[in-house]
Amino acid sequence: MVMIMNKRLLLSVLLAFCLLANRLSAQEVTPPVRPAPTETLTAPGISAEVYFSQLQQGTFGIIRLTGSITEARALFLNRQYPFFERPGDGWYAFVIAAIDARPRDYPLALMIRDTAGTDSTLNKVVTITNANFTNQNFNLSPDRVYLTEPEVERLEFARLNVLISPVRPERLWDTWQMPMEAPLISGFGQYRIFNQNIQTRHTGVDHEAPVGTPVAAIGRGEVVYAGRLDIRGNYVLIDHGYGIYSGYAHFSQLNVQRGQTVEKGQIIGLTGNTGRSSGPHLHWEVAINGEWVDSIEFLAAWLPS
Ligand SMILES: [Zn+2]
Repeated sequence: MVMIMNKRLLLSVLLAFCLLANRLSAQEVTPPVRPAPTETLTAPGISAEVYFSQLQQGTFGIIRLTGSITEARALFLNRQYPFFERPGDGWYAFVIAAIDARPRDYPLALMIRDTAGTDSTLNKVVTITNANFTNQNFNLSPDRVYLTEPEVERLEFARLNVLISPVRPERLWDTWQMPMEAPLISGFGQYRIFNQNIQTRHTGVDHEAPVGTPVAAIGRGEVVYAGRLDIRGNYVLIDHGYGIYSGYAHFSQLNVQRGQTVEKGQIIGLTGNTGRSSGPHLHWEVAINGEWVDSIEFLAAWLPS
């Protein structure tokens, strides 16, 4: 009994301290060690290390270039991916297997210009594999049924696309942490049906949490949106640099403003049930170069540091 009382007291003191410090020490993510490349492509004076053999729908892969390079980009699935220079290390790009890409082989092209002005192209075939996303049904209360209209969905994704497309050529984050410690109730990529009407895709993951639970930024970055969206409700979007964004939805309270720099673990808002939500929870999501990726896999992945 005393033990339980002490534990409870300790937890309350810790929570009070975290709230006072405006920081939340949710689960830290230990950065994985750099893996060995799976393949190396070469052109005169240039080497391209590929850190994946195939890509599952909704995941990303890393490519590293070394040599005397002035400019480089990757072309994959009708998107252009910039390479970022990390002095003394090399040039890096993240290529994405979109959540809705059909599982098959696709060409990947690396366009590289060296310091002498010579252009090289390196080619590779990348297989996208099926993630076997499952289905999930939801019922919304009558006052929220308008949120199942395709036009509401289309407008929100169009607005988000504008927000998650700019690529900042610098890295703002250091390491990552989970936004909160709470049970996961829904995974990335699911096909979702609301009130037997609209079918959509789940761009993030959901944690079950009562209204008012503090939510932390997963890493350092700049807030590029803090306000109301139809589907995501009260929403915070953070730009971490290198084209990486994290978004947090359905808040009851926002603690940050657009333009503000936030630190990893900083409390950015409190969980709620706003927007297209059928109960209090946190939805959080990660986008890279304008595509949504599995946020849990993202936190566990190796990134250049
Ligand atoms: Zn969700």
